[in-house]
Amino acid sequence: MVSRVIPVDPFDLVIFGGTGDLARRKILPGLFRRFCSGQMPEEARITGAARSEMDDDAYRALVGEAIREFGGPRACDHGTLEAFLERVGYEQVDAMGEGGWSALKARMRPGCVRAFYFSVAPSLFGALAERLKGFGLADDDSRVVVEKPFGKDLASARALNLTLAQHFDETQIYRIDHYLGKETVQNLMAVRFGNVLFEPLWNAQFVDHIQITVAETVDVSGRGGYYDQSGAMRDMVQNHLMQLLCLIAMEPPARFEPDAVRDEKLKVIRALDPVDHHHIVRGQYAPDDNQPGYRAHVEDPRSRTESFVAMRCHISNWRWAGTPFYLRTGKMLRARTSEIAVVFKDAPHSIFGADAGRHRNVLAIRLQPNEGMTLDVTIKEPGPGGMRLVDVPLDMSFAEALGPEAEEVPDAYERLIMDVIRGNQTLFMRGDEVEAAWAWTDPIIEGWQTRGDVPKPYDAHSSGPEDALMLMHRDGRKWREIRT
Ligand code: NAP
Repeated sequence: MVSRVIPVDPFDLVIFGGTGDLARRKILPGLFRRFCSGQMPEEARITGAARSEMDDDAYRALVGEAIREFGGPRACDHGTLEAFLERVGYEQVDAMGEGGWSALKARMRPGCVRAFYFSVAPSLFGALAERLKGFGLADDDSRVVVEKPFGKDLASARALNLTLAQHFDETQIYRIDHYLGKETVQNLMAVRFGNVLFEPLWNAQFVDHIQITVAETVDVSGRGGYYDQSGAMRDMVQNHLMQLLCLIAMEPPARFEPDAVRDEKLKVIRALDPVDHHHIVRGQYAPDDNQPGYRAHVEDPRSRTESFVAMRCHISNWRWAGTPFYLRTGKMLRARTSEIAVVFKDAPHSIFGADAGRHRNVLAIRLQPNEGMTLDVTIKEPGPGGMRLVDVPLDMSFAEALGPEAEEVPDAYERLIMDVIRGNQTLFMRGDEVEAAWAWTDPIIEGWQTRGDVPKPYDAHSSGPEDALMLMHRDGRKWREIRT
């Protein structure tokens, strides 16, 4: 396959929080990989900005170290790394102060796309936006990129939206959800809307249920302070799982254009029924002989924050009426895996009799690891002995199907940053989407607080609490196994 990397326009990208964890692990290595792929034009400039005192050379050393650690195989190529670092600089700026802004402005060049990445705490977004405008750094074509968490409830998300709206138009605001930048997520849209095979079956008549699982093996140590205020519902469900749910459930947009796609996603969120608390299970990983539990990783030894949540929800519209969507996410689970499974209904009548067993088509979309899709189809078990049926997967691992280039697909961050430079908001959340998602999650969280709900303990490296298994079992269904 021939690579079709199209360079983006010349740009000035400022990363506020350019010395922080996210910048070092994701943003800068991602930019480096785009540089290696030839997508970054000669005139691209990247400026880190934070309060720490350092000059360009000291920052380049910091960036070089981060890229050697997180940048992939090309980071070993000294010449390539040096060429990238020539495009990198640093300015000492305090989001809350007045110093450094004029010097930062002096780095901006006419005729280049200006993008400002807010890789700092959300409490600084307002101050940054105000100063970007006040010091004349941002113009009407500039873009700002904001990180999650986008609020902690509807009221705070609305306040953040209002603050940003005082200084920027909605078309300039890029709210990142890195799940939307994953190759498979976009492939989900290609599979649904680029083929005639699936869309006619993509509804309550043919789909029995849909499962969305985002399982992690990590615990919350190291970020317990943040996580304990948030929990799985705010940290994962309100954003990542909701976005996946929207893409799987939405109507075909008229065009693959930002507002056409986002309008359809918004309709899905608005059609979600409130969730009955009997249909939600919260969990918290328990200590065992080998490791501490959740409460040892956070300050509050009696914390009731959930590190796991599973739920059944329903979308009240013509396409999905009566089809359950099961969502599940958690820390410290058996394996790290993210998957969407569309489980189709049984064939209306089996000509093979009861002995043939029950067989179902399942389309599984794997986001990580090994991005790809499998479609379980029923065939005859080979050999003599009558008509015995067996399910076999048609496996479309992107790496296998598309060759080495597929292994080099851009990671979510690098793709999304390039979309910012291109001015394409399709894979970014709109303000009204974020607010609608909070409007749906807030009553669930408030319900837990009002009832004094205590999360169910679950074993480390398990599939979550027993009650989560029962949630499916009661409906005569089964979660797919959590495995890599
Ligand atoms: P971090 O490691 O604590 O870094 C924070 C950065 O902000 C540092 O560069 C810090 O540098 C700078 N900073 C702090 N106060 C500042 C101020 N007043 N003016 C200018 N710069 C200031 O945080 P992070 O993990 O990179 O996270 C950054 C944002 O991304 C947060 O909103 C976080 O929720 C979000 N996020 C992070 C991750 C992740 O994997 N890390 C994932 C998703 C979302 P100085 O101290 O030198 O100023």
